[in-house]
Amino acid sequence: QKAEWAKLIAEPTVTSDGKHVELAANIGTPEDIESVLKNGAEGVGLYRTEFLYMGRDSLPTEEEQFTAYKTVLEKMEGKPVVIRTLDIGGDKKLSYLNLPEEMNPFLGFRAIRLCLEEQSIFRTQLRALLRASTYGNLKIMFPMIATLNEFKEAKAILLEEKETLISADVNVSDNIEIGIMVEIPATAVLADQFAKEVDFFSIGTNDLIQYTMAADRMNERVSYLYQPYNPAILRLVSLVIEAAHKEGKWAGMCGEMAGDETAIPILLGLGLDEFSMSATSVLRARSQMKQLSKAQAAQYKEKILSMSTTEEVVQFVKGNFHTT
Ligand code: PEP
Ligand code: MG
Repeated sequence: QKAEWAKLIAEPTVTSDGKHVELAANIGTPEDIESVLKNGAEGVGLYRTEFLYMGRDSLPTEEEQFTAYKTVLEKMEGKPVVIRTLDIGGDKKLSYLNLPEEMNPFLGFRAIRLCLEEQSIFRTQLRALLRASTYGNLKIMFPMIATLNEFKEAKAILLEEKETLISADVNVSDNIEIGIMVEIPATAVLADQFAKEVDFFSIGTNDLIQYTMAADRMNERVSYLYQPYNPAILRLVSLVIEAAHKEGKWAGMCGEMAGDETAIPILLGLGLDEFSMSATSVLRARSQMKQLSKAQAAQYKEKILSMSTTEEVVQFVKGNFHTT
């Protein structure tokens, strides 16, 4: 099977009825690009930049960040690279920031919330990203967006830094897409409003499931509630995709669910444009995608969205889709 998959490395991802979807990979460091290329991913759908900030005792400099982002963009040779701004907090801590302990870190001061407050950290990262933008196809993504105002504020800061760089004669790309992670239920529900403002969505199911089901993604005791195929999750995902398409934008997914064999046929049917997963899942997913008909998957959409339990959804997928 592995040998069969290997033949797909240089191929685009096309369904049995000739529809193209993009299979991208998630990375944490520039070194991960080796595996991205080896596994034939069509882009980077999520670069988790927090690893640049972790395992050290001070913030990374603008120059260090610039080098990391430039390396990734260059190695991807013009293929899309979605870089997420700092998503610290929750399960990821930075000792040197001296943030107070919180009762509910997953519901607390993290990600974009921290960046909008600690603006020097945010602006340093944005400058590094903007300077790197001319070395490839950069898309910038903000994590944990809960309100339209957060997005507008983050985007305004980005544009401010861009203007400052341009007036200092620094080269900055003119077509950087600016998008958000949809990982908070409120944002999924208001996706139609967000879709007017953003260039793209990337659905972060790892957190979206945790927040929708009120089940800590790290807690074994409640893991039975952590249900990717729960129709509540699928309806939110569908809302986001429909809202994006209505405004002519694209919708991707960078949570674990995007590479999941049972989820893939469902997501294809819901119209997801980009699937970003661990690099080692890309060829398996491409092989599966080749055997799926997008038209047929789309026909099952309403039926699946009208189901009431996870079990029903799983049973339906197993019975109606050919899986590898
Ligand atoms: C997510 O929440 O789905 C996601 C991709 O981000 P992270 O796992 O880094 O929280
Ligand atoms: Mg997340």
